[in-house]
Amino acid sequence: MPADIHVFPCRSDNIGVLVRDAASGACAAIDAPEEAAVRRALAETGWRLTHILVTHKHPDHVEGIPGLKRETGATVIGPAAEAAAIPDIDRRVAEGDVVEVGALRGEVIATPGHTLGHIAYWFARERALFAGDTLFALGCGRLFEGTPADMWATLEKLAALPDDTRLYCGHEYTLANAHFALAADPDNAALAKRAADIEARRARGELTVPSLLGEEKATNPFLRAREQALAAAVNLAGRPAAEVFAALRAWKDRF
Ligand code: ZN
Ligand code: FE
Repeated sequence: MPADIHVFPCRSDNIGVLVRDAASGACAAIDAPEEAAVRRALAETGWRLTHILVTHKHPDHVEGIPGLKRETGATVIGPAAEAAAIPDIDRRVAEGDVVEVGALRGEVIATPGHTLGHIAYWFARERALFAGDTLFALGCGRLFEGTPADMWATLEKLAALPDDTRLYCGHEYTLANAHFALAADPDNAALAKRAADIEARRARGELTVPSLLGEEKATNPFLRAREQALAAAVNLAGRPAAEVFAALRAWKDRF
């Protein structure tokens, strides 16, 4: 039986996600951006929280943990390298570890860049990637702790997952990301089409997450640092992709 996945807005621009195994009723929140919003999502779905899967230590991803833990007793799983900054953590995980939510099975992928201890959760059978603040729809996370080389290696790792993977990221930044993407990759027809679609969906008040990894590979400028068009856009024609990525990330920081 496939997983039930519910996506909902939290705080000003965070995205909350609940993943449930219908057979056992086990249900995980991906991060806990906001206690009240997660509670509301649980009430709406009628699901019972059993796990919280934390991607990284930033307050807008962990602030809801203590209240939700008190109320539900959910098991809190998070990155070992950031355990000291994650309240009520029960289990510390790292690259290659497996987390189970009922019969659902997620693999931990180390994704340094936004923070050094950041992790993503890859549910292969469900074709779902919970990427936190690493890979966004049409964007990527800011480099608070890691180097551009760290983030580029992380993005290459994620890009190796199947094209039909649904990407669940930590923020609804897609429209702003689209404006930058159009500036960096103006001749990309697939991007132009996607940007128009995003504009319409946001105007209707809809979330744009999840997206498909295949469409990210075709339209996300940070996954396209190998393309000559992107290298040329940052005046680095012929240079290595990691260098092009670094220049794109620096440009986006000023954009
Ligand atoms: Zn963050
Ligand atoms: Fe965040």
